[in-house]
Amino acid sequence: MFTSTLPATNRSTVADLPEDLFAAIQELKQKLNAVILAHYYQDPDIQDIADYIGDSLGLARQAAQTDADVIVFAGVHFMAETAKILNPDKLVLLPDLDAGCSLAESCPPDAFAQFKAQYPDHIVVSYINCTAEIKAMSDIICTSSNAVELVRQIPENQPIIFAPDRNLGRYVMTETGREMVLWEGACMVHENFSQKKLVQLKIEHPEAEIIAHPECELPVLDQADYIGSTTALLNYVKSSPKLSFIVATEPGIIHQMEKETQGKSFIPAPPMSNCACNECPHMRLNTLEKLYLAMKNCSPEITLSEEIRIAALRPIQRMLEMSQNINVSKG
Ligand code: SF4
Repeated sequence: MFTSTLPATNRSTVADLPEDLFAAIQELKQKLNAVILAHYYQDPDIQDIADYIGDSLGLARQAAQTDADVIVFAGVHFMAETAKILNPDKLVLLPDLDAGCSLAESCPPDAFAQFKAQYPDHIVVSYINCTAEIKAMSDIICTSSNAVELVRQIPENQPIIFAPDRNLGRYVMTETGREMVLWEGACMVHENFSQKKLVQLKIEHPEAEIIAHPECELPVLDQADYIGSTTALLNYVKSSPKLSFIVATEPGIIHQMEKETQGKSFIPAPPMSNCACNECPHMRLNTLEKLYLAMKNCSPEITLSEEIRIAALRPIQRMLEMSQNINVSKG
């Protein structure tokens, strides 16, 4: 659904860019009364200029609370779309409109509507990593920070469809003991970690703890000393007495881990092949230059039909209400 490419106005050469991008972005922020929200998987430069850095739950909460006129969302499309669902009157900018998500794309709305029709007595719990159309077909949205707790709040006799991430779904089933019908979607980044290489790395670094995101496959999660959302992983390394960690999630989070701890080391978990494919190619489409140009040109912006927006808002609000008292540090 996000087929646009970078607008012509944003195709600038390096010569068009100010020398001090950080200062220019700060100036535009004042001028536009803008807030910059960034996901932990963004480049370090973007994390360093953001007003708020977080995971999906934290970013959704910030988007719901902001009094800025413009939200510059340094993340992927479904995240900026969530901000727009919560803030229909604000201008929501995404530095690169092509910053999609393999997981969100693994759940096409037409196919999901047919799947859902097979289970008329089930309610739908959808991970926030999905399109606005899938949110509009859901009863409750969850994030990796609150999925387990939200499912626990659903009455035991209520059958559940969980979409779109099969790995998070299986993890929630293990943690809650609840059977759920799973949509078979997955994240290309988190499914790419190699259990074999992880075991080898642990042999080379026996002192290191393995920490993993629940979007990883079961064989990887089985090796983990701790499993949690990106925020929970960050909080865990800050409070743990251990000094070394093997990190099985997108390595962008390591920037914050290094900033917020002292004398601790972080080793990215290895992908299957010898590539950088544990980095999310969608998240990495955003750059500081594109962020500056998006603010300068007030484009590309996120737009949504009001019908979809209103239908998608209801399950997000339900999540925000149900997760008010959940301590995300526990993941
Ligand atoms: S890391 Fe996976 S789930 Fe997250 S944005 Fe990238 S493709 Fe989507």
